[in-house]
Amino acid sequence: MTQEQWGALQDRLCKTVGENNYKTWIKPLSYDGTSDGVAIFKVPTNFMGTYVSQNYGDLLLSQLSSVAAHVRRIQFKVANADRPRTPAPAPEKTRAASASQSDLLPSAPLESRFTFDTFVVGKPNELAHAAARRVAEGGPVTFNPLFLYGGVGLGKTHLMHAISWELRNRNPELNVLYLSAEQFMYRFVQALRERRMMDFKELFRSVDVLMVDDVQFIAGKDSTQEEFFHTFNALVDQNKQIIISGDRAPDEIKDLENRIRSRLQSGLVVDLHPTDYELRLGILQTKVDTQKALYPELDIDHGVLEFLAHRISTNVRVLEGALTRLFAFASLVGKRITMDLTQDCLADVLRASERKISVEEIQRKVAEHYNIRLSDMIGPKRVRNYARPRQVAMYLCKQMTSRSLPEIGRRFGGRDHTTVMHGVKRIEELKVQDGQIAEDLELLRRALEA
Ligand code: ADP
Ligand code: MG
Repeated sequence: MTQEQWGALQDRLCKTVGENNYKTWIKPLSYDGTSDGVAIFKVPTNFMGTYVSQNYGDLLLSQLSSVAAHVRRIQFKVANADRPRTPAPAPEKTRAASASQSDLLPSAPLESRFTFDTFVVGKPNELAHAAARRVAEGGPVTFNPLFLYGGVGLGKTHLMHAISWELRNRNPELNVLYLSAEQFMYRFVQALRERRMMDFKELFRSVDVLMVDDVQFIAGKDSTQEEFFHTFNALVDQNKQIIISGDRAPDEIKDLENRIRSRLQSGLVVDLHPTDYELRLGILQTKVDTQKALYPELDIDHGVLEFLAHRISTNVRVLEGALTRLFAFASLVGKRITMDLTQDCLADVLRASERKISVEEIQRKVAEHYNIRLSDMIGPKRVRNYARPRQVAMYLCKQMTSRSLPEIGRRFGGRDHTTVMHGVKRIEELKVQDGQIAEDLELLRRALEA
């Protein structure tokens, strides 16, 4: 195949894979000739070669052989792999170099209480905890990236800091970089402004472990995403561990480029589920010990923690806040912590966490219960596997939230309020005819109220 033939194929490839994919994956390929029926392409990174070969290999081969019948196979070579590599600089040198770049280095401080020791494990977070532990051992990289996601206050930042502490304790030499996606963006913008992109790139590419918290922040921010993508690929290529957190699953983050989404999904994705009663009680019991150390004179009645675990929302931050306030208040008025005092002191918190169940929560729970993807439940598909759970979710939204039918419709992929009404009616009928549906509803309601 000639360079001209390859050039002529570009348009067609772009149309087939779409412009974004084309720009990311096809355009950077540089055709390097064919020998013995093997078309050779140079790629900037190893990772890229693997990805293109896995995702576009068949397509490329069929297109190539349509213009050059002798092509039977494709091979990817890293662009400068055949040049002698410059020896890696000694560690001291690297550090000296980064000292001058240190103002670009985002040194997010780690919270000293966020360690594995203080993290209470329960059913809703056991997988996330196990994955975090594994990564913190610093052994061979087995899943990359580790993507942790979950709602506000469920312990994502806590786990990330715990990983960082653990890695640093085990190996102080390790260059572990933890920062929020927001900080990543600021540093990036700063580097652009100061024309120091080389420093920026070098810096991020020289870390051993990169942790980026709250990645959803970069959604919709195009150039930051682009830079993040390249950083990510460069590190994966060097087999460096990456740990990312987000407030939802990669495929549910809006305005995130598809190529980033697919990168985020390519490792291990684990979620922190909303806390359940047992976990909340466990956390409260641990935190009470800390409070008791602060206020040794205070006593707490039996049943108070159980009450709080029952009544306060799934967000652990709120739970902690309530306990802190309770102890401070009791200490001020010099009384033991009774049920009455608790209800008095926390009246507003208790009221706020009363039955404030969101449409999203219901959708997520129902999708989970029926083992379907959230996007399928909200999306346009009409097959019964999705339609029935969708109606169940609509019914629960009508029952458990104060949203109107049109509002509910909007959150189910922009459906009409009559569709919602029909769904709700259907479930009301089925509830009496179909024991399974009745049972599902009961389970879901209890799970949502937990
Ligand atoms: P996120 O980053 O998911 O919003 P954080 O990690 O900041 O949540 O957690 C919020 C607060 O709740 C922190 O003070 C954290 O220590 C605490 N917390 C969350 N989950 C747990 C847990 N399983 N055990 C102990 N504390 C927890
Ligand atoms: Mg956080």
